[in-house]
Amino acid sequence: MKDNTKCLHSGYTPENGGPRVMPIYQSTTFKFNSTKEIGDVFDDPTKAHIYSRFTNPTVDVVEKKIADLEGGVAAMCTSSGQMASLMSILNLCGAGDSFVSSSSIYGGTLNLFAYTLKKLGIECIFVDVDASEDEICAKIKPNTKAIFGETLTNPSLQVLDIEKFAHAAHKNGIPLIVDNTFPTPILCKPIKYGADIVIHSTSKYMDGHALQTGGVIVDSGKFDFANGKFPEFTNPDESYHGTVYVRDYSFAPYIIKARMQLMRDFGAYPSGNSGFLLNLGLETLAIRMEKYCSNAIKVAQYFESTGKFENVNYPGLKDNKYYNLAMKYLPHGQSGVISLTIKGGKEAAIKFMDGLKLASNEVHVADIRTCVLHPASATHRQLTDEQLAACGINPGLVRFSVGLEDIDDIICDIEQSLARV
Ligand SMILES: *Cc1c(COP(=O)(O)O)cnc(C)c1O
Repeated sequence: MKDNTKCLHSGYTPENGGPRVMPIYQSTTFKFNSTKEIGDVFDDPTKAHIYSRFTNPTVDVVEKKIADLEGGVAAMCTSSGQMASLMSILNLCGAGDSFVSSSSIYGGTLNLFAYTLKKLGIECIFVDVDASEDEICAKIKPNTKAIFGETLTNPSLQVLDIEKFAHAAHKNGIPLIVDNTFPTPILCKPIKYGADIVIHSTSKYMDGHALQTGGVIVDSGKFDFANGKFPEFTNPDESYHGTVYVRDYSFAPYIIKARMQLMRDFGAYPSGNSGFLLNLGLETLAIRMEKYCSNAIKVAQYFESTGKFENVNYPGLKDNKYYNLAMKYLPHGQSGVISLTIKGGKEAAIKFMDGLKLASNEVHVADIRTCVLHPASATHRQLTDEQLAACGINPGLVRFSVGLEDIDDIICDIEQSLARV
């Protein structure tokens, strides 16, 4: 099936006379006919649902759909994108381990990696997104367990050279984790280029309607966790009656381990109702992505034509530093997000944003409605000037997230506000 079809049909096929729409299973628990049957499910939790702290039939449908769209073998939803980032690392690293991350990542992820994981004894070694393969490899130590990067960075819109990072990771026997939130699998499928694990904040385009936060981790099923570097995958798991993940769940050891250890213990799992709403968003994902992209390139070109901006950053514009990488990894569109540096600095930026009538000032991005944000005073305000520079954020930067309104109305709104700046 092609993506438009997968968005509607993957994960759920109604039985004869069954509900056409995937039902909401809003139940913490599931009934079995005997203690033996419950015991059997504990022995192999992939056989049935046990408890909605870590599996649920409605969420399961969404997981299958997203895994299918990404070209992975299995997925696990989480209660937020932050939880997906956290669990993707904790599934590989413990105290005393390290991982390498591109420094061009979302501000919340940067905070999690640089401060919170450090308190848990996990070191994040940052590397420039434009570093050469040798420079990336030079950061890797014997205790380094993964490399992390973001396909299209929020909000600096740098494009990750996935093949370069994957090559560096695989040369060192470690997996590449890619945050694919902005492109979604409709615009880019990182597994095709060598990513082993793909994560998302589903709060953005996947949900699309600004209804709820959520995240997901997708396992490509391709990485060899039996290569000697990952004893937690090859030794019996004491906490789960001696399960050996690469032996017992060889089709998707990474995601099964994440569910049986991390989700079981932490319980940051979406409810059936949340799964239902996320599925509604996913049903129109492919068609929405097409429209965000076609609106965004027009808005970006309009911004350029006004002459009021020092910089209009959208990787689909020919003069963009990342244009060639965008044409390789995001040839069908570069999402709806544009970052702008207005002439006149922070003051002009705020004037422009406050003068908008249709576009709303809000802490969100990738909404169905056009919205704007000033990263330096909102999402990234905890970062130092050096950290802001490292993730490509100027104090005058405006993040403009193009929605699905009529293009004429979006441009008219920008025009009336710019006239007063
Ligand atoms: C928003 C975002 C996150 C965090 O997701 P939440 O759902 O807000 O926790 C992670 N990565 C990227 C690229 C994001 O845009």
